[in-house]
Amino acid sequence: MILKDPIVNKRFKGISINSGRSVGLACIYSPERYRSVAKYSLSTDKAVEEELRRFEEVVEICSHELNRIARNVAKNIGKAEAEIFLTQKHILNDPQILNAIRENVTKERKNVQWAVHEVFGSYEEKFAGFDEQYFRERSTDIGEIKRRVLNRLGDKKSGFICIGHKECTNGKNKIIVAEELTAGMLVNMNMEKVLGIVTERGGITSHAAIIARSLGIPAVSGISGLLDYVQCNDKILINGDDSEIYLNPDEDIENSLIRVEQVETGALCILNTPKGMQVFANASTLGDVQHAKKVKADGIGLLRTEMLFIKHNRIISEDEQYHFYHEIVNLMAGKPVTFRLLDAGGDKQLPFMKLKQEDNPFLGWRGSRFLLGNPDILSTQLKALARVGQHTKIKIMFPMVVDSFQMKQLLDITKEILSSCNSSVENIEFGAMFETPSSFLQASEILKLIDFASIGSNDLIQYLFAIDRGNELVNNEYDPEHPVIWDLLRNIALEAKKQNKPLSICGEMAGRENIPSKLISAGITILSVTPRLIPKVRNELAKHSGIITLD
Ligand code: PEP
Ligand code: MG
Repeated sequence: MILKDPIVNKRFKGISINSGRSVGLACIYSPERYRSVAKYSLSTDKAVEEELRRFEEVVEICSHELNRIARNVAKNIGKAEAEIFLTQKHILNDPQILNAIRENVTKERKNVQWAVHEVFGSYEEKFAGFDEQYFRERSTDIGEIKRRVLNRLGDKKSGFICIGHKECTNGKNKIIVAEELTAGMLVNMNMEKVLGIVTERGGITSHAAIIARSLGIPAVSGISGLLDYVQCNDKILINGDDSEIYLNPDEDIENSLIRVEQVETGALCILNTPKGMQVFANASTLGDVQHAKKVKADGIGLLRTEMLFIKHNRIISEDEQYHFYHEIVNLMAGKPVTFRLLDAGGDKQLPFMKLKQEDNPFLGWRGSRFLLGNPDILSTQLKALARVGQHTKIKIMFPMVVDSFQMKQLLDITKEILSSCNSSVENIEFGAMFETPSSFLQASEILKLIDFASIGSNDLIQYLFAIDRGNELVNNEYDPEHPVIWDLLRNIALEAKKQNKPLSICGEMAGRENIPSKLISAGITILSVTPRLIPKVRNELAKHSGIITLD
């Protein structure tokens, strides 16, 4: 690849995932790049032989690959452009480079990935330091070859491309640019320190977007083809308030957009929720729970337990889960905490489960369906939660329940699991999330079986209108104001009232401007939103109920 001249002041319009503005250098995230290269010693001759064999094989494969690319480029684009790839093939087969790598493996007895990284890396650095443009361009070629070989050597993980950096900082103090962010990627990044996120794809209620919002990171999505323009370390200005970004903005643009005084969300706010209403927090991490505590949330209305599994990318033992849940309950010091059981599937995949790839993951093995199909996971989680429930009151919520038959199945298996380990359920309330149209149609029957309910409007809207919640192309039709939704909300609120069952809403719409007061009017008085929005929501409710002074 030839270094392109940086593009200056280019504006791209997308959709806002989170408001706010920030400026920083781009850090490109690729779903198929090596992340970091481990260095280790080879203890046996056999291991050395095996490393060399792998290396020779990969060099051959990469050479063929480059030939093939060159042929295609020559045919479809032009001979001059194809030369780039032939040059790369020559560099890859340079005897001096190949021998240096072989010697690292045979004499130093280092693993081949490390040797490739070191040898190509040193040439890359050397060429980058030349004054002549021709040589600097070769440095980029060498970097490309290095990554091609490393990818082929099998350490193919998602990660940052990090051109020009020795150490990967996982997005720290950078603007992350990616095709799409998944929940799994986000929790593994240095999220607390990320300055902003820009993606080519992804809708406003995708789980990655929810996390970005909970962390208060300005984010814009839906800029298709962006990665064709942006290079590592380009300056990017995100303006999440106007759904736009600028690539390499000049000083005037930067000054006009960034130096605007930022208003702290809810800096002026009431500290208590108006009487008769409750504002809970949605949380995925201990950080969220601490934030919820800081803004005096009335409790945790939705603890997304799946994020613990996604973050560690493995099954979490009963003990580990117990400690995590226990800490949350401790932090909330007697305020209600609602743990939603593992809600896997859709855009919250668990790669360590090695499940069959589904064509329609949002219509597949999700929510409670997944739990019923994985009784070991369900059992471990229930036991961990029941241990927490021995000392304190907790709420356990089943995700995406589809009908009363499934609800009964879930409660039966839960009882069976907990009685098999003599766990008392005295302190535990069981509830369900209403997220599918079918559950709303059977609300009366389902509510009879449970202690409380919560509306998951993110999924509800997706299933009600056949709108993929993660797809930016249809996001403008994702409309929480649609009268059909409000008919459903009013009906279920009436039914819950009739049965005297607490009903909350924990989808993203509960935190949108003007929606909280509408929800109260519809009979839904318990709102659960991302902690950052709690002061804002409280202020709106206070206005709605005529409270004008602080409590
Ligand atoms: C929802 O669907 O509204 C919800 C709160 O659950 P999640 O966003 O985690 O799917
Ligand atoms: Mg949901």
